[in-house]
Amino acid sequence: MISVAEALSRILALAEPLDAETVPLRAAAGRVLSEAVSARLTQPPFNASAMDGYAIREADHVTGRRLKVIGEAGAGHAFSGRVGQGEAARIFTGAPVPDGAERVVLQEDVTRDGDQITLGDRLEQSNHIRPLGQDFRTGDRISAPRRLRPADLALIASMNVPDLRVTRRPVVAILSTGDELVMPGEEPKPDQIVASNTFAIAAMAEARGAEARILPIARDTHASLRQSFALATGADVIVTIGGASVGEHDHIQAVAIELGLQQNFWKIAMRPGKPVMAGRMKDAVLLGLPGNPVSAIVTAQLFLLPLLDRMQGLEAGHAPLKARLTAPLGENGPRAHYMRARLSVGDDLPAITPMGNQDSALLTILSEADALLIRPPGDPVRGTGDIVPYLPF
Ligand code: AMP
Ligand code: MG
Repeated sequence: MISVAEALSRILALAEPLDAETVPLRAAAGRVLSEAVSARLTQPPFNASAMDGYAIREADHVTGRRLKVIGEAGAGHAFSGRVGQGEAARIFTGAPVPDGAERVVLQEDVTRDGDQITLGDRLEQSNHIRPLGQDFRTGDRISAPRRLRPADLALIASMNVPDLRVTRRPVVAILSTGDELVMPGEEPKPDQIVASNTFAIAAMAEARGAEARILPIARDTHASLRQSFALATGADVIVTIGGASVGEHDHIQAVAIELGLQQNFWKIAMRPGKPVMAGRMKDAVLLGLPGNPVSAIVTAQLFLLPLLDRMQGLEAGHAPLKARLTAPLGENGPRAHYMRARLSVGDDLPAITPMGNQDSALLTILSEADALLIRPPGDPVRGTGDIVPYLPF
């Protein structure tokens, strides 16, 4: 058995970043930018009014001053005249500040009478002008690699860049195995159950920028497994679920090796999910996950998601955060324990409460958890208030 850290570094070493492709902005959410983006223009492209009001000279910014309104500037409708001493231009948010004007007074701070305004006694410090280039200038760059969030897309759009270079989506083929499994919606026989973790893993992979393909469930025979592996052709990652222990019906390893798997390791010193296997299988990385629903989902979180990050060109790894325990914990055994837990608001750090039942078959508990509390191998007794590491889940 190897440690979680060793397993992760071996899995990451099995993959290289994938090629890039060009996609329209509209299809770039959640993808990883592979080449820096350069602004094609300056924003704002002119000194812009931040308010609705009147554009005036600095010298006229005096309570009681009467000014003549000589024109109007709206968003998309510049005023081509020049504001001189004793003059004002009506102006709206987003409009270019006309030549000559040095500040905008709020419309609430003046009284208007025909083409005259009078400045009130509640004048503000701010000039209410967004200076040209305040946000960014032509040539400013967004560096790569970077997973694109909604705000990034708005920024790139405002830079007038309609297409981007992103890393191709890794294709993940998900292969559930077991004579006892049926698909959701089918009628399980009395000795069968419904395949479940398959759907979590597909969703997790997609949320991490991958294209997930759920293959038909393989039966516990070599022939059926061979058929399923054939359907995984072209995938960058093959995730198998179940059949990876040492039971008489656990055939994945044998079949995968027969089909060219170069196994890198099998078994990690962790709970849940000891029987994780990884290796290269022709052009794909094979990640063999345990069948128990919680074990499969937790190990996918710990190993599949970083692998997908790496394939998309990102730094990959675990970045545990810190929280304070709300209850004592006994000594941990020789395997790292990833305890399902709930976070709540704490005084300095978040508070963390491990769920009462840590059985690796309980999806109800997993779906209520929002953190994995990490207990390293041999972690000593911990008391209430102790600081412990966790991964958001
Ligand atoms: P295995 O590793 O094949 O022995 O499976 C361990 C446990 O996980 C067994 O109780 C299986 O029924 C269950 N299991 C395996 N695959 C899945 C799946 N895709 N969804 C839900 N449970 C599964
Ligand atoms: Mg099985």
